[in-house]
Amino acid sequence: MNKFDPAAAINAVQQTSAERGINPSINDSATFTFEKGQTMTDTFHGEATGSYLYSRNWNPSATSLCRALAAMEGTEAAWVTGSGMAAITCTLLQCLQNGDHCVASMTVYGGTFAFLNNYCRRLGIDVTFVDSTDFEEVKAACKPNTKVIYTETMSNPLLRISNIGKLREIADKAGAKLIVDNTFSPMIFSPYKLGAHIVVYSMTKFINGKNDCVAGAICADQAFIDSLVDVNNGTAMLLGPVLDSYRATSILKNLYTLHVRMQQHSRNAMYLAEKFNEIGIKATYPGLPTHIDHKIMVEEMNEGFGFGGMLAIDLITAERANALMELMQKKGIGFLAVSLGYFRTLFSCSGKSTSSEVPDEIQHKMGMSEGLLRYSVGLDHDIAHTFEVIKECLKELKFI
Ligand code: PLP
Repeated sequence: MNKFDPAAAINAVQQTSAERGINPSINDSATFTFEKGQTMTDTFHGEATGSYLYSRNWNPSATSLCRALAAMEGTEAAWVTGSGMAAITCTLLQCLQNGDHCVASMTVYGGTFAFLNNYCRRLGIDVTFVDSTDFEEVKAACKPNTKVIYTETMSNPLLRISNIGKLREIADKAGAKLIVDNTFSPMIFSPYKLGAHIVVYSMTKFINGKNDCVAGAICADQAFIDSLVDVNNGTAMLLGPVLDSYRATSILKNLYTLHVRMQQHSRNAMYLAEKFNEIGIKATYPGLPTHIDHKIMVEEMNEGFGFGGMLAIDLITAERANALMELMQKKGIGFLAVSLGYFRTLFSCSGKSTSSEVPDEIQHKMGMSEGLLRYSVGLDHDIAHTFEVIKECLKELKFI
């Protein structure tokens, strides 16, 4: 277990408004004024720092959020985007070009899978999907033109855990960058500290925690973030998926309660996982000693945030999964909805929703049953009562 404390690191970033308000102000300017024409020219060409130019590259509100995110990850810098997919696609396109090759985990989020499998190939970027927990397979997939190894710390929906240190060793040998999506496990893992070059997030999920917007983040060293916003070649600057300053400010405030939320999501998910197994419903949860990656999780995780809020149960068929989800929604357990990291419980049938872009043969290869029901466990105060209601649903459907 690691001793790094991302919550303390965020708390150490004291930011106030110009008027000493205890929150940074919302700066809703698209453009910024200069006293001297020469300073504007120098700023434009990256020869002067310290002045804001235009909100498509930097805005003071976004900067406040970036400072806190960089502290949380232990990186020099960060940049925030209008969605998680924007963070992922900008990062990949900054690192890959026509003729390059990417080795990617086959269990990545469906949108990322589709981007790599369809869109990148259209641009002449070659992609090999691998089981990223099989190091021999990852090594064997690397080619002289491999520029990126891409994985998620905690995979969707089977919650496999990546060994970031091992993958970094392979990336170094291949001369590639290791990019890690840590959306499922903020604070629990610090992938940059474990060896990732770049960490990406969908902040839509746990980081914001309110399901009121989509947003993303890229955390890396200063040189990479500078390259992203370069006026001539920066993918973020040129594609322009910027996060609005109002949203950046509201996410920043939510970020300061992330550690408490992660602890409660984890406590509740662990309780449900244990109880499901007790009644004979097979639960996949990395906090259980029986989970295939429990040991590596314990080695890599930060202390004090638990094993995360994601949990999967196998109901064998999609029809059975749908029946349970519809009944649970009716009885107020949560919502039949995609996404995760919300304060209420969300559930979806992965193979028919968030992983539906992944072809059936790959779903089969990764061991995903069509009746796999994924829970993003909420912040329920009385999780024992929640479980009793789920048990009633299972009994009513004659599943137990
Ligand atoms: N990464 C993961 C692991 C996700 O689950 C998702 C969305 O579900 C994304 C990235 C994409 O994020 P967004 O929907 O904010 O674009």
